[in-house]
Amino acid sequence: MELNLGGSLSRKQEQNNSVYKVVIIGSGPAGWSAALYAARAETNPLVLTGLELGGQAALTHTIENYPGFPDGVGGAQLGELFQKQAERFGAQVEFDRASAVDLSKRPFVIQTDGGKQIQAQTLIIATGASPNHLQVPGEVELTGRGVSYCATCDGWFFKDKRVVVVGGGDSALEEGLFLTRYATSVTVIHRRNQLRAGAILQSRAFANEKMHFIWDTVVTEIVGKDAVEAVRLKNLKSGEESLFPTEGVFIFIGHTPNTQIFQGQLEIDENGYIVVDKRMRTSVPGVFAAGEAADSLYRQVVTSAGMGAAAAMQAIKFLEEHEA
Ligand code: NAP
Repeated sequence: MELNLGGSLSRKQEQNNSVYKVVIIGSGPAGWSAALYAARAETNPLVLTGLELGGQAALTHTIENYPGFPDGVGGAQLGELFQKQAERFGAQVEFDRASAVDLSKRPFVIQTDGGKQIQAQTLIIATGASPNHLQVPGEVELTGRGVSYCATCDGWFFKDKRVVVVGGGDSALEEGLFLTRYATSVTVIHRRNQLRAGAILQSRAFANEKMHFIWDTVVTEIVGKDAVEAVRLKNLKSGEESLFPTEGVFIFIGHTPNTQIFQGQLEIDENGYIVVDKRMRTSVPGVFAAGEAADSLYRQVVTSAGMGAAAAMQAIKFLEEHEA
């Protein structure tokens, strides 16, 4: 049978490339940890980094909750250290992005933006997730200068400052409540007059005196020169516009796991996350997933790294069982 994936990859097109024992897609904490473990098992793994080297963690100014760095570590620097450690044991790195895969039989085939077709006995998917953006003026320019997508990462920088949180789901309230540890006030700006978040989080948020709510309102612009100074708001019911002073803008309007290229080839839940068991096995034997592509719950550098290590250990076990 000839498989045609999005018109870009068919088995007829396969080149007679060598087959890697382990291919890892993604270069965030999950991908590098998987590479480290697979490399130390002497499988000469290949890491396809994707376009965002280091993943979401690399976008974080300082990571203060990754064990072993009591003074914190830059997100990009941590990514470089992860990479260096994996390469020291023989991980090979391609700065390329997987554009299509064929998981219908082994070896699996991965096609890249760079025009390569790579074959893999086992595959570890560590493609991460991307926070959804508001797509308003000022958002890109002020990211890292008051605009953030991670309260756990950046909350401390807003000690004794005012922040706004955009969104009305579980993430907005959970992260907003976390921010009340630091900020003097946390104002949730939600586009409707009813929260999407679960009842318990809502009760906790309404009971917290630092939490405030602006309903039926969207952010139309993030204003500031070198740092965030205010958000421009528009009330969707009255049409009224206003400027709301704030030092921080935390945006939690959902995440999108980067799993589009795997749709239809392995089990993916209704939110787009790859379904794995506790051994990081996906629905396709020989394919494992780790980090935020498969985790909607923890989303931390340390948990993603742990999942990556576990996925590699399982891939090695799979190879041993299938090579015997
Ligand atoms: P979510 O449930 O999809 O909520 C996104 C929120 O952002 C919604 O309130 C939505 O408004 C709003 N929104 C979306 N696009 C927007 C836009 N362009 N402008 C303004 N507002 C916008 O996402 P999430 O909160 O990240 O949660 C994702 C999943 O993880 C959910 O299943 C959630 O239950 C789960 N989760 C659970 C927990 C927990 O149990 N503790 C914590 C975090 C996440 P509308 O309401 O109007 O659509």
